[in-house]
Amino acid sequence: MRLRVLIPLLSVLLVPAGTATADPTPPVRDFGNGADRNEEAAGVGESAAKILREAAPELSWRPDHTRGYPRRTTLPVPQENPADASIKLGLVPHHAIAARLNQLQAVGDRVSAEVIGRSAGGRDMYLVTVTAPESASETRRQEQLRRRIESGHPIPVETYKAPVFINGNIHGNEWEGTDANLRVIEELATSTSPQIKDLLAKTRLYFNITANPDGRVLGQRPNGNGFDLNRDFVTASQPETRAMRQIMIDNQPVVMIDLHGYVNGTLVEPTTPPHGANYEYDLFIKNAYANALGIEQAILALGYTPEKDGTFPPQIPFRDSEEGWDDWPPIFTPQYAPFHGAVASHTIEFPMRVNGRDYTEQPPAELQRRSRINVDIASAAIRATYTFVQNNRDKLVADQIEVFRRGAAGEPSKEVPLGIVPGFGPEDVYTTTYPRAYAIPSGTPSAATLVDFLVANDVAVERALLPFRAGGRTYPQGTYVVDMRQPKRGLANVMLEPGADISPRVDAMYDISGWSHGLLWGATVEPITERRFHVVSQPVKVASPTGSVPRGDGPLSLRIDDAKAVRALNDLLGQGVAVTLAADGGAVVPASAREAARTVADRYGVPFTRAASTTGTPLSSVRIAAAVSADELFTLRELGFAVTPVSTAVLNAGFDWSGTDVLFVSSGLSYGALNPAARTALDAFLARGGVVTRGGTGAAFNAAAGLLTATAVAGRGDANGVVKVASTTGPVGSGSPAHSFVFSPRWFTALGPEVKVEQAYATEGPLVSGHWRAEPRDGSGGPEAARGQAAVVSGRDERGASVVLFGTEPMFRNHPKGLFPQVARALFWTSSSAKVRTP
Ligand SMILES: [Zn+2]
Repeated sequence: MRLRVLIPLLSVLLVPAGTATADPTPPVRDFGNGADRNEEAAGVGESAAKILREAAPELSWRPDHTRGYPRRTTLPVPQENPADASIKLGLVPHHAIAARLNQLQAVGDRVSAEVIGRSAGGRDMYLVTVTAPESASETRRQEQLRRRIESGHPIPVETYKAPVFINGNIHGNEWEGTDANLRVIEELATSTSPQIKDLLAKTRLYFNITANPDGRVLGQRPNGNGFDLNRDFVTASQPETRAMRQIMIDNQPVVMIDLHGYVNGTLVEPTTPPHGANYEYDLFIKNAYANALGIEQAILALGYTPEKDGTFPPQIPFRDSEEGWDDWPPIFTPQYAPFHGAVASHTIEFPMRVNGRDYTEQPPAELQRRSRINVDIASAAIRATYTFVQNNRDKLVADQIEVFRRGAAGEPSKEVPLGIVPGFGPEDVYTTTYPRAYAIPSGTPSAATLVDFLVANDVAVERALLPFRAGGRTYPQGTYVVDMRQPKRGLANVMLEPGADISPRVDAMYDISGWSHGLLWGATVEPITERRFHVVSQPVKVASPTGSVPRGDGPLSLRIDDAKAVRALNDLLGQGVAVTLAADGGAVVPASAREAARTVADRYGVPFTRAASTTGTPLSSVRIAAAVSADELFTLRELGFAVTPVSTAVLNAGFDWSGTDVLFVSSGLSYGALNPAARTALDAFLARGGVVTRGGTGAAFNAAAGLLTATAVAGRGDANGVVKVASTTGPVGSGSPAHSFVFSPRWFTALGPEVKVEQAYATEGPLVSGHWRAEPRDGSGGPEAARGQAAVVSGRDERGASVVLFGTEPMFRNHPKGLFPQVARALFWTSSSAKVRTP
């Protein structure tokens, strides 16, 4: 009997063969990217601080397949907020959405609304499902068919409702997607048209009413933590992103649209090259282009004109631009959705600007005129999209099945035939080579973090129950294996592969070009290219526990090589445990604190080992004054550091430095802009405290404050990606991974005798994946110029301040998790070496 239970859990991976136009003006980016991240307001950080403390616990919503539709949930109605930024535009404030949805659920039997998540600021997120009524057994049947599709098998499509996903307002100050969602839901709820009846019999329409309630209320692009949610899909650091991810995994939309502003004329994807190499792009582009043409016609049919309304005709980047609006990184909603089966997905940018300076300077009547146009256009785009799905259901579902079938079969990456749609040329063709599998050796907290992330993204991961041989080596029992014969192999590969250096192929990129969970998250990830090997394995729902404390009664050591270890260390220090930093970089916990060690081993999954002695530098909690970008603030707090956001304005207003051990400078602080009193106070701090800087703002601070003798050289401003690095045995470099991440890279030359190189760019490359070219005017600033140059340096200045300068981006958007310990080492080193000198 037990065997019968076990057999379905055991699977044998038997491994046989197989192993991205014409308008001269490129579209204007509505995205704030790296170039301006150094100037982001510290004010966002301050509100983020408050939000982190006050946020309600995260909802772990999953769909209920045991109930039919409609569901008639009574949504809780939030307190009225007269300051909601939507009100000035004549649009619906967040607090009014729930009541409206409660009414719409009551008008008939087509609308169901659920709270599916909470924003960083604790505001409810609403998913509305509009479809023809279903019995509980019909809902179960729909789920069975969805699963069958996901495994790549054909279904009787006439009985399947094709899922469509409309995502509204992911950028908080691009409001009208929400209002268009509500308008279209009302139309669908009340329509007596036979076409709508047919539509709702053939589809389930999912509306995420506002993906960013914080931003909507506050009138800002990011969420309450200061994150651009439409850059977060490779990291899913934010609760809103995780909620959107779950919508896509659970409902498997065949088509999705993401509603943005503002580009005039309305921008409708598909995109320019480069195209992500892990998509089944032949299936994608034909559907995405066809839907875009339909959306264009629907918008033109509204009759808005440049002369009358200031509204220009739609543009489709794939057709109308050469470069600059690509689908290379899966950080955006429509570029993430195809990995869960969307065979058409689109960013749509309505034309009439109502945010930024227009929001404050235009009269309300003009803003409201513009918003009305935007709501009309967004509504037309939604209607065109659902009509496209209604008219092409069978073909779209078949194409989604084909995406998953190719993945499950492990078919080679397909080269898309030229001319598959008009204008699809050699510049649009991107392919990849899939390995047979990836092996992730287990036992480290980093491996567990990566495996849990893959599983959360619906990537199948197996655990080897016995040792196995592959690629000329033996992997121990417990090794994690990601079989690349799986329906979602595209997503697995886009995360685990090193990525590609695409600098030679394209001049201009839209956002980042490099990322890699395989190289940047701290786990060992090894591709297995061998065509045949055997693994007796079991599917992983959650990674194996990694926390442990050895028996005995002596002191314990914790290696600070993982974000979880940093959190554990900060937890111990917060409890007042007398931790010392040993010469080997390990954090040593005295025998008297074994119980506390056991607790954090369990809480964070960190392994302790026996320590030889307790000698070393005493550590204590690091109190940071941080002039940093929002993602860095979030990351530092996530690591358990006590952080007080500061800026030029905060220091000029009078800042009490007595509670600060280290000043972190990367954004919003200029030494030269400090008033005399602020400068005097800061100089007094610099005579006892530590300093860590990052990027151009940090390097400028170092120079202006006269800290370390070093010249910071700027690489090209838009350069970004994964770089190969070589580390020294210094206090910061020691134990660092072989790769790092850069955005607007910097390196340090003309180093004074007091300055030590902690990490240098590799002498080959150094770009592994991403986009990094030299300046066209004089050939400077490229990767060749960075070769062998110091990327991270440390030293003590004349006053005695301990200083670390980063030319890399170790906390970028909370992504490169394997680099976080390096930041922690910089903070502990600057703090402790400073304290040693404190009388
Ligand atoms: Zn946007």
